[in-house]
Amino acid sequence: MNFKKVKISEECVGCGICESVCPVNNLLIDGTEFDPDKAKLAVKVTNGEAAVDEEVCLTCGTCTFNCPSRAISAEYEPRAS
Ligand code: SF4
Ligand code: SF4
Repeated sequence: MNFKKVKISEECVGCGICESVCPVNNLLIDGTEFDPDKAKLAVKVTNGEAAVDEEVCLTCGTCTFNCPSRAISAEYEPRAS
C-alpha cells in the first residue's frame, strides 16, 4: 500500500501540534525569509481546525503520529502492479 494523503477528521481540536512537528513547516519557519501569512505550510490550523496542503505535504506521517486527538490519519492506495 502507498501512503497517498493525510486526512483530518472532526476530532481535531486545533491544538497546533501537527503544525509544529511538520518537517515541511519547520524548514520554512527556519528560513530567513519566513512570512507566516505567505508561507505555504503543509499543515496549518485556521479557526481552530487543521488543514493539509496536498501540494506540499510529503506524506511523511509525522503529524499522524503526534496528534493527541488521533484526528489525522494516513490514507493509503493499493500499490500499482
Ligand atoms: S489535527 Fe490533531 S494535532 Fe493537528 S490541530 Fe488538530 S488535534 Fe491538534
Ligand atoms: S504528513 Fe508530514 S509533510 Fe504532510 S502535513 Fe503531516 S507532517 Fe507535514
